Amino acid sequence: MKQLDNTQVRKLSLDDLRSVPESELRLHEALQPQVSRYTTTHSDTVSPVAALDDILGLLFKPAASQDQDTTAVFKVLFRALVAALRLDYLHLRALDESGQARIDVVERIEVGGNSRDAAIPASAALDEPVSESGAGAATHGPFRFEFSAGRLSGVLIAEASRAGFPSPAEQLVLNIAARKIVRDLGELPYDKKQILTPAIEQLAVRMGARLELAEDAVPRRQSVPLDAVRESYKNKLVTGMPDWRLRELFDLVPTMAWSSFPDGSCEFLNRKHYEYTGLSAAQSREWGWQAAIHPQDISRRMEKWRESLASGRPSEVEVRIRRRDGMYRWFLLRIEPFHDQFGSIVRWYGAGTDIEDRKRAEEKWSASEKRLSLLINTVPMLIWSCLPDGHADFFNEQWYNYTAFSPSQSDGWGWTAALHPDDYRHATQHWRMVTTTEDQHDSGFEARIKRKDGEYRWFWLRANAMWDEVGIVKRWYVTSIDIHDRKLAEEEVRRSEAVLAEAQRLTGLGTFSWRVGATHVSLCGTLCNIFGFECGAAVTRSMIEERTHPGDSPFIFERVKQGVEKGENFEEQMRVLMPDGSVKYLHYCAYATKAPSGEVEYIGTAQDVTERYLASEALEQARAELAKAARASSLGVLTAAIAHEVNQPLAGIVMNANTSLRMLSSDPPNIAGAVETARRTIRDGKRAADVISRLRKLFKHKEINASWWGLGDATREVIELVQDELRRDRIALTELFDDGVPPVKGDRIQIQQVILNLVRNAIDAIDAAQGKARTIVVSISYKDNFVCLSVEDSGTGFDAAAADKLFEEFYTTKQDGMGIGLSVSRWIVEAHGGKVWAERKQEKGAIVGFSIPCQSNPNTESVRGAVRAGKADLTL
Ligand code: ADP
Repeated sequence: MKQLDNTQVRKLSLDDLRSVPESELRLHEALQPQVSRYTTTHSDTVSPVAALDDILGLLFKPAASQDQDTTAVFKVLFRALVAALRLDYLHLRALDESGQARIDVVERIEVGGNSRDAAIPASAALDEPVSESGAGAATHGPFRFEFSAGRLSGVLIAEASRAGFPSPAEQLVLNIAARKIVRDLGELPYDKKQILTPAIEQLAVRMGARLELAEDAVPRRQSVPLDAVRESYKNKLVTGMPDWRLRELFDLVPTMAWSSFPDGSCEFLNRKHYEYTGLSAAQSREWGWQAAIHPQDISRRMEKWRESLASGRPSEVEVRIRRRDGMYRWFLLRIEPFHDQFGSIVRWYGAGTDIEDRKRAEEKWSASEKRLSLLINTVPMLIWSCLPDGHADFFNEQWYNYTAFSPSQSDGWGWTAALHPDDYRHATQHWRMVTTTEDQHDSGFEARIKRKDGEYRWFWLRANAMWDEVGIVKRWYVTSIDIHDRKLAEEEVRRSEAVLAEAQRLTGLGTFSWRVGATHVSLCGTLCNIFGFECGAAVTRSMIEERTHPGDSPFIFERVKQGVEKGENFEEQMRVLMPDGSVKYLHYCAYATKAPSGEVEYIGTAQDVTERYLASEALEQARAELAKAARASSLGVLTAAIAHEVNQPLAGIVMNANTSLRMLSSDPPNIAGAVETARRTIRDGKRAADVISRLRKLFKHKEINASWWGLGDATREVIELVQDELRRDRIALTELFDDGVPPVKGDRIQIQQVILNLVRNAIDAIDAAQGKARTIVVSISYKDNFVCLSVEDSGTGFDAAAADKLFEEFYTTKQDGMGIGLSVSRWIVEAHGGKVWAERKQEKGAIVGFSIPCQSNPNTESVRGAVRAGKADLTL
């Protein structure tokens, strides 16, 4: 540092100084070159005069209102001057016109526990008139400056114990200071509190920093070590501070910023702090800023503060700070110590960065990380991750729980020890292949993994790669899903499917399913074979319809139309017309099921019954032949009996007739003989008639079972007998039986023979008609102590002329007919006291029936009962 050039300084006497015009500018101009010569040793410093100018200018310019009294303002200023000029003592007293002390400020330092007493007696300023001209005469000893300014007058005394005080430079500065104070004191609204103390103090500090640069120009305090001085002031003032634009810069920074005294109390906070918290500078000063810190964060913040203050190290802490609208946001507060050239902390500087968004993101991330970890460890999967070469380095909890392996047992390739020996080779090969091949894609594989209890369970393992930006695998994530139960179930299904297929093959029973309305029908292989489709081919509805015999309704489709509405299952028979013209008979059952989607799906079984059908046809044929033969033979027996019985009388008649002729033609005619012979002829004729009538009586007076029985039940039994024929001939039979029909008396079997005959005739008539309408209605009703049974058909009917002949013996219109059915029926019915009848229907068909007496039943009116559709109620 440059040595102070006393010679040059001395050229400026105090008088010279006093004569300098009061204009700041000129004062500056006059003093600046002189002072700057020995003070501007650092590029960013200006002269102490400029600094003094700053502080004094600000001191008395009430630029901002602040709750601070004038004395306090002077205190701050004096502290600055005492420190800057290394004074021991500085005293200002100013009285108003009435002699009352308006300002009385003393600033002194304590050295070695002693402090200097006030230099100005309490009455000093009153005793002797003071004037500016009389002040500051002494060049050594205490500096004294008396003044009279406006309504105030007084004295300023500065003292330092070192020899040579005040030096010319010090005198210069003190004079300037005193003059400026005096000048501005007149304007000072001293009774108002309008001084911005922190700002002044800041300037004082700044000024001190600048004056510090003139340190060499000021002789060092000799009796007091420098450190002691520093020690005394370290909590009051600093000597090394940043650029004078600090405050402006602080206000410009987009974050909160502040400076604090070495004891941690706040010196000032920047505009951002105010804008954010709404706390004024006064409210925030010292420890006031704590009001904006979240109550829960205060202790953390203070603890950090204390740590930093104790260690002198920077620190940071995250706290919530209240916004002016009451909302709290997270901030990261950082504090840094600022050292003077002696290495002592003279200030702490802090900045707060809004980290609310980051904090939220972190919280979110940590919550999602927590969730993820929870997920990974709770999903019922074994999960692990591997390095790009397949070396496993992480396993989830489930893995450890399942295998009871330790992390060290599992890591690397250790996990493969849990694989089933039979799967080991395949699994490790697969895994190596996945990690080494180009596309590094794993389609998964199945392997058994050993559980801690020793049981092996099937798992489906699959590795998923995580690539970096350039497409290189960074990690592998392997998931293993327990598929053991599914696997067993699949095997069970496979096994039962095989059994079913074998059973289908053996029985020729096929299965099918069809979703109502769908174009395709699903047929099993057996059924495809039956229809002659390629096994496994996509079978459409039209393909099946094509194979359906023209006389039959196609498969389930038509029936389903009604079946769906009724929600019914059904059983049906159809003929399959093969491309070679052969016919197959198919018997199938369809069961309606409802899918969860609400769609109706028919599932069913179908069986090729061609052989059975043909066999039953042949059997039926044989039975019919046999019946015919039996009928023929019984007729033959009957005829032989009749012939035998009638033969004798007839032979007698013929012989007697011949004899009678001979007697009458003899000459003379033998009249008496002829008469006798004629009598014998008559006798034989009567005998023949007797034979016939006896035979008829045989039928008529046949013993009749006298029990009471229900005609309805007897009729149902008969219908049951013809079910096969009805089904084969696709005839729908409807029973229309009245309720409460009274029982009938007679031979149940004979009446059943009658009913059977009527139904068979109806079937024959329908078959002969070959029409589309193929219905039979069997009705039973009650009227006037008679029960009537009629069989109505949609067959050929009969001619009006034939109506009378139907019941005659041997009347038949059928090729193989015998013509005795109806005549025997009539005999039987009449033998029961009833009668038979036959009617032609207006449209096609006939009604043939009978009525027989029954128990009288006064309560019974002819009430139609419910229609009961028989088993063969086939809708065509
Ligand atoms: P068969 O059945 O052997 O011909 P029947 O005595 O049972 O002998 O019948 C006599 C005839 O009466 C039949 O050949 C037929 O012409 C006529 N017939 C009987 N029932 C009906 C009917 N339901 N519809 C039309 N004709 C019938």
